[in-house]
Amino acid sequence: MQANLLKYLERRLPRYTSYPTAVQFDTKVDAQAYARWLAAVPAHAPVSIYLHVPFCAAMCLYCGCHTTVARRYTPIAAYADLIEREIALIGERLAKPAVTQIHWGGGTPTMLRPQDFIRLTEALRTNFTITPATETAIEIDPRSLAPDYIGTMAEMGVTRASLGVQDFDERVQQTVRRVQSFEETGRAIDGLRNAGIANINIDLMYGLPHQSVTTIATTAARALALDPDRVALFGYAHVPWMKHHQRLIPEDALPGTEGRFAQNAAATEALVGAGYRRIGLDHFAKEGDPLVRRQCEGRLHRNFQGYTSDETPYLLGLGVSAIGSLAEGYVQNASDTVRYREAILAGRPATVRGRALTDEDRLRGAIIERLMCDLQADIAEICREHGAAADHLAAEFVKLDNLVNDGIVERRGSMIKMPEHARTLVRSVCAVFDAYLTGEETRFSRAS
Ligand code: SF4
Repeated sequence: MQANLLKYLERRLPRYTSYPTAVQFDTKVDAQAYARWLAAVPAHAPVSIYLHVPFCAAMCLYCGCHTTVARRYTPIAAYADLIEREIALIGERLAKPAVTQIHWGGGTPTMLRPQDFIRLTEALRTNFTITPATETAIEIDPRSLAPDYIGTMAEMGVTRASLGVQDFDERVQQTVRRVQSFEETGRAIDGLRNAGIANINIDLMYGLPHQSVTTIATTAARALALDPDRVALFGYAHVPWMKHHQRLIPEDALPGTEGRFAQNAAATEALVGAGYRRIGLDHFAKEGDPLVRRQCEGRLHRNFQGYTSDETPYLLGLGVSAIGSLAEGYVQNASDTVRYREAILAGRPATVRGRALTDEDRLRGAIIERLMCDLQADIAEICREHGAAADHLAAEFVKLDNLVNDGIVERRGSMIKMPEHARTLVRSVCAVFDAYLTGEETRFSRAS
């Protein structure tokens, strides 16, 4: 690795699944604001839906999600009741819009018993227009996936499953307390495909304790043997001051910045070598995948679930901590179950924070989204589309000079483009256009 890249890899930066990022959300956006924004959604506009299920059977030590360990079903059943009410509560404010995508995330959505999963799917069908064109994706924990649950998901219209793997190496798995054999994962994928759930995503992770270039390369090769349609390759974000269970991760077994970079490169080489196309920062997809098509057309988008082919600007977030996005800005539900329950039982949205977008936010957000998706952006062109002067971001161009000198960005006029070898550093380029970064960030993960 070139020495001048190290300083960029070590910087803590947002993952830019939104702009402004969730750190900038404030309490000025509340349930009343969300109700007004929902009322302004055009009658025939399609929406997409994210449902958050914040329960898992056990805590994986690397986990950065909003989830808790549930030892009994009672709180999960009570939560399903609340989500069902929330679906109706939000649905009644809209004109039964068509749904382009549904994403069940968590946590482990399949902690819901089949009858509750069916009940919630029926509630979605009652309040929204779900068609055969609706893509329904669900995050799966292969360790707890019962065969009959797969049949239920297929009957309920699930079309895509994302399976968490991270690393197949036994020592790594034991250290992060997620022991999941290759065979277990393979059985889950076979079961899903046999039931007609044809689109399979696998999530891998580098930067975990005891991981090495060899373990991640072996893991990537084994994952490829399972023939996934998409692979996400995330860097482990070690933030034990925010996620307390991460304190159990032995820090002396974590790879350094150069090690992380090499692991990322090794897994990438295996995936690209097998014919997968790189998508944005951290995704890979087979030729012909909707993400590849959208990327080729310059129409790939990024939202809170990562990269998406979905083009609707209306994302409804349901469940504790869920984030939604409407034309006016972002909304987030209470992360605390008690507050969430109180709001839903009182018949009002559980929104507690969010961000109303300014014109400047939209302009900078558009540049950041294009960079995250295409690794290039015509800054003057985007300024023009947003009614700003072509030299509106002249100060940012001065800041880009260092990145140009370090070979991270190529610049021709107002067009900036990242060379392939610098793809991992795309967040450093986005950061130039982020008006809210102070340089003192500790909440984010490292850019490596
Ligand atoms: S199963 Fe997924 S959401 Fe649950 S603790 Fe493990 S990584 Fe986190």
